[in-house]
Amino acid sequence: MNTSLPTSQSNESCAWQNCLWAEREEKTLASYAMHSRDSAGRRYAEPLHRYRSPYQRDRDRVLHSAAFRRLSGKMQVFTGDMGDYHRTRLTHTHEVATIARTIARVLHLNEDLVEALALLHDIGHPPFGHSGEEALDECLSAHGGFSHNAFAMVLAEELETRYTPYPGLNLTREVLAGQDYRITHGEEGGALPPLLEVQLVDLCDSITYTAHDVDDALTLGLLRIEQLSGLELVRRALHWNSGPVGGDATARRKALVHSLIDVQVADVIDRSQSILEPLRGLDGLAVRQLGTTLDLSPPLASEKEQLSHFLFENVYRHPQLITIRERAKQRVRDLFDALVAQPQRLPPRFIDRAHSVGVPSSAAHYIAGMTDRFCDTVYNTIVESGHWQAPDWQ
Ligand code: MG
Repeated sequence: MNTSLPTSQSNESCAWQNCLWAEREEKTLASYAMHSRDSAGRRYAEPLHRYRSPYQRDRDRVLHSAAFRRLSGKMQVFTGDMGDYHRTRLTHTHEVATIARTIARVLHLNEDLVEALALLHDIGHPPFGHSGEEALDECLSAHGGFSHNAFAMVLAEELETRYTPYPGLNLTREVLAGQDYRITHGEEGGALPPLLEVQLVDLCDSITYTAHDVDDALTLGLLRIEQLSGLELVRRALHWNSGPVGGDATARRKALVHSLIDVQVADVIDRSQSILEPLRGLDGLAVRQLGTTLDLSPPLASEKEQLSHFLFENVYRHPQLITIRERAKQRVRDLFDALVAQPQRLPPRFIDRAHSVGVPSSAAHYIAGMTDRFCDTVYNTIVESGHWQAPDWQ
């Protein structure tokens, strides 16, 4: 293998056998992992890169996209005016990526693919979390509706631009199929479960947000720790932590959140290893054809379900959040109506886009790309002040 320093030309092209990542993957990945050499490629063909695998490049394209940066200004569950401790979409995304990579490394799955999938998974969220999504879905009810998972595909394939002559990030088919699975959950894709890496990211998303929503809700005073004591997963987590814990409430809260994640990650690893061990030597397709799924063990899956239900009843439907949500939904609806009534107020690229997708979808996509604060700014500019044109969005 040629390991001399790359030149600008040699960065751009190599047969996979000569790429530096191929040897690393051969040494470290399990047979059933998604090997980069087996990628189905991209819509617009590109030469392989010598030292960055196709999924590393996907990860970097998502990381450098405008939609990814905007996750820092998009609420997860709690809004910016509730304080500055709680998660945003961006920090949630990094937590998902980190936990998924930890498990992927233990299971010898493709960490680069896992990271690309994790960084991509929430980029389609509109401002104001699920309230913004519900509002846009109502606004587009006669035009196919709106979902953040589907909008992530629109961003990845159409709205994000690089230096290339074609639109979109030109991600690999595996990463796009992983995001597409979040839309269809396999209903349109046949009987095969998705790649193990796709399953892992989906699982880590829910492990992550249940744990950090507990942390945020306790910190914001929406929950008291005593309310959690009847939950089986919480009791299991409290017994799990064998390390020293400080005596104050903050330390106890942080120990609980740490253990909630750790106990679930350990369970996923143990269950997955026992399932995958007998399948060593099989490739990823054969493992999927056997119906292999990555999940929590049945007892923990049931306990996590109990925690999720508790959070739904006691946090996501908390009166303080419902008031904020209704206000956000109304703002998104009013802004949408104003832009549809006078589409000339849209920025030029969305006026152009309206010719191909229609004014309602183009207006909704403009709004969906906004951060919470920018949405408030545009709402104040257009709806409240009656200013003529919306600020630009690139
Ligand atoms: Mg998520």
